[in-house]
Amino acid sequence: MVSSIVEILGTVIDRERIADDLATRDHFSRDLFQSGSPPQCVVKPVSVDEVSAVLRVAHEHGLPVVPRGGGMSYTGGYVADNPNAIMMDLRDLNRVIKIDPVNRYVTVQAGCTWAQLREALADTGLRTPYWGPLSGLRATVGGTVSQNSVFFGSVRHGSAAESVLGLTMVLADGSLLKTGAGARACGVPFTRWGGPDLTGVFIGDTGSMGFKVEITLRLIPESEYVEYGSYAFPDFASMLNAQVGLVQAGLGVETFGIDAYKAKNSAQTGRKLSEATKTALGVVKSGKSLLAGLKNVAEMAMAGTSEVEVAPYSLHLTVEGRSQQDVVDQLAQVKAIVEGCRGTVIAPVIPKAMRGRPFPPLRSALGVDGQRWVPVHGIIPLGNVVQAVEEAEQLIASYSDDFERLGVLYSPLTTNVPNGVLFEPCFYWYDKVTSLHAEAIDETVAPAWLERPDRAEVREFVFKLWREVADVLAKHGAINFQIGRTYPYLEEVSAAYQNVLQSIKNAVDVKGIVNPGVLGLGRGAVARR
Ligand SMILES: Cc1cc2nc3c(=O)[nH]c(=O)nc-3n(C[C@H](O)[C@H](O)[C@H](O)COP(=O)(O)OP(=O)(O)OC[C@H]3O[C@@H](n4cnc5c(N)ncnc54)[C@H](O)[C@@H]3O)c2cc1C
Repeated sequence: MVSSIVEILGTVIDRERIADDLATRDHFSRDLFQSGSPPQCVVKPVSVDEVSAVLRVAHEHGLPVVPRGGGMSYTGGYVADNPNAIMMDLRDLNRVIKIDPVNRYVTVQAGCTWAQLREALADTGLRTPYWGPLSGLRATVGGTVSQNSVFFGSVRHGSAAESVLGLTMVLADGSLLKTGAGARACGVPFTRWGGPDLTGVFIGDTGSMGFKVEITLRLIPESEYVEYGSYAFPDFASMLNAQVGLVQAGLGVETFGIDAYKAKNSAQTGRKLSEATKTALGVVKSGKSLLAGLKNVAEMAMAGTSEVEVAPYSLHLTVEGRSQQDVVDQLAQVKAIVEGCRGTVIAPVIPKAMRGRPFPPLRSALGVDGQRWVPVHGIIPLGNVVQAVEEAEQLIASYSDDFERLGVLYSPLTTNVPNGVLFEPCFYWYDKVTSLHAEAIDETVAPAWLERPDRAEVREFVFKLWREVADVLAKHGAINFQIGRTYPYLEEVSAAYQNVLQSIKNAVDVKGIVNPGVLGLGRGAVARR
């Protein structure tokens, strides 16, 4: 009798850790924006051996296998397009394996979230240089490193990739590969360097090159001296000019800009009593003393959120330094740059609240009124930021009739990164709230939201716009993280580059079973655009 794949998998992993019921398969068929074929089953390994064993089975049977972390992405990175796919949900592979304060590294399993990692490091006085995305309560270190990512710490320390010292990968045939100094005989994983950077091949790959099971990240001292700044701007171009100036001057640890719509949204979410209380408690903890913390809360309460809500655009930033004088000096330099770009100082309510509670429940996976939303993005070289954004906004404005007809709203977000600015046009609309959104927001979904009709035509419009905006930004040299099955990648690079990349893919996954389709791999050579 021929055994089903679920039966075969049941010989290598506890049967209770394999789900093939319709509801689970349906839940795992979509990310926060896109949907594909339900996988034939979802397995939830708890050990590296189990990941390896599942891959060996898949390899033997030539079945696609898709890695999934927290599931908090929207670029089709884990959305399988093959009904035979096996999905591996890695969230239970989540131990902090080793904190080495002497050699300054921490090793975690791939399913560890950024919130779990922060908690584990809380009493050490240490942190990773990049220390997580805003979705860090649910986003895993493995998923984030596979997407590459920016937010906490990334203006000064770079993207998630730049904090990685080494990886343990499980390759398509189930074999293990270590990278970085930890790969050497007697190796201590304290650095990524010492020869070609094999680690880099597996970062930002959206899971195309194998399964990350362990990640080693650098540790640095947590800064004792932290200050905050917020600034209002009359128009977008002025704020962008200030952002470029701040990156060029090397100021800020995390810096982001929003428009009035986002400011109102975050203020409304923050005003909910329970959330505000928890954030305030976080702000108390973030003060160097209880007194300093209480002063922060008092300032927040007095300043309210009105200034930021009325500003057409506002920029928010955190600085860290070696002394109080150092951070005060940095803020003075920031102020000079901002004022040179028509900006004015306002109360730093938002950055303080964010540091006070960096990984809140993901209520923001939906808009304030339960709207669906999706961000498009491009990371733009400094010299092209203002023009690229202007052209992208002209394109968006040319669709104003469709925005009106379909009820879509546009609101941008910008984040500073070393040598560039990340521009994220976000689109909001009313649509069906999926089981993944309901899971993500950590809150009871309002019954009215669940009754909203499915609006595939709006998602199609947003997707078309997504591609067009990404094309405009690419013409100005923008690159993308979170490539998944959405952003162009292979068609942007030369034939020689494609050959090398495909050869690497063949070396680690000869049958092409690991997350086929992401990065455009598996389609053969494509013409450069
Ligand atoms: C409210 C909200 C806020 C966000 N804030 C930010 C932000 O501040 N900065 C930012 O950059 N992004 C942000 N994001 C986007 C996203 O949450 C992050 O990129 C996050 O890092 C994704 O991690 P994840 O564990 O959920 O990955 P998943 O969505 O599960 O997976 C992402 C990709 O990685 C692959 N993958 C996952 N785990 C592994 C593994 N172990 N081995 C190999 N491949 C793997 C998957 O196949 C997929 O292609 C946000 C999203 C939301 C909804």
